[in-house]
Amino acid sequence: MAELTTVADAPPQCDADGCTKPAVYAYAWEWGEKGVCCEQHRFTLNQTSEHLKRAVHFAPLQQTKAPITRDERTQLIAAKLSTEAELEDVKTRGLDLYRENTNLTSQLQSLTIRHRETGAQLKDAQTTIAKLEADALRRDAELGELSDEVSRLRTLAKFVDPQPQQQGKSSKTQTTPPAPKG
Ligand SMILES: [Zn+2]
Repeated sequence: MAELTTVADAPPQCDADGCTKPAVYAYAWEWGEKGVCCEQHRFTLNQTSEHLKRAVHFAPLQQTKAPITRDERTQLIAAKLSTEAELEDVKTRGLDLYRENTNLTSQLQSLTIRHRETGAQLKDAQTTIAKLEADALRRDAELGELSDEVSRLRTLAKFVDPQPQQQGKSSKTQTTPPAPKG
């Protein structure tokens, strides 16, 4: 008994003793014996045929090219169409992504320019603030000097004129000298 193949689609093996090659031909002896053989054993069988003066016929095996069924064909066409649609979809998405990328790049460029402009404006503003702060400090210092001067003058005035404030508001109206006429 020949070895059983475990893989259903595997080609049949040459049935010559000790041969493990896949069969390429089916053969039939004129007395009815049939089998399959490899390329090499076809040669051997032909020699035997010549020795015996009995005819042997060969027919090529096409077991690997089983015709596909209508169903398989339909499925293959559907798969092809589906793949083509997917490919088209991927192309469209790729184009969309490319456009989006271009768009984002130009947005990024304009944002970078705006960022630089804002940065320059901020620098200007900071310079102005620094100047104003320096001015304010200078004025504070001047004000301090002036109030020092004022208190020094007040102290001096106390020594020169020891009398307190001359008159109040109420007495001022009463003692107002008459306005000159004419
Ligand atoms: Zn063989």
